[in-house]
Amino acid sequence: MDEKPLKNVYFHFRFKFLAITAISFLLYIILSSSFDFSEFSSSTQFKLMGPFLILSGIFYFVFKKVPIKCPNCSKLIATRKDWHCPECNKQQGKQRYLMDKCVHCKQILSTSFCEHCKEEFRL
Ligand SMILES: [Zn+2]
Ligand SMILES: [Zn+2]
Repeated sequence: MDEKPLKNVYFHFRFKFLAITAISFLLYIILSSSFDFSEFSSSTQFKLMGPFLILSGIFYFVFKKVPIKCPNCSKLIATRKDWHCPECNKQQGKQRYLMDKCVHCKQILSTSFCEHCKEEFRL
């Protein structure tokens, strides 16, 4: 029997994207900045760092909270709930984000279920 590949909602991808953007920005700053710190601290790159870090932080919190859309029924699914871990087969016991590690086995959730249509999908 062929298993149908699970649909992906690219939930973890949001954070990978943010991390890649942050790393490339920091690399750009390091590579393009002057080695003289007094010069560096008055450069545009240095002034951009603060707002950039604040913005990344805001994006991180927004990405955590923005609900995912079920790939099967297109209904919105909250990213914070008492989810069930397929690795150790336990409930979390409290409201937790889907990106958090399991409180019991410390595994990152790779799939989740839609509470509307009960279909499984990849995060
Ligand atoms: Zn677990
Ligand atoms: Zn659904």
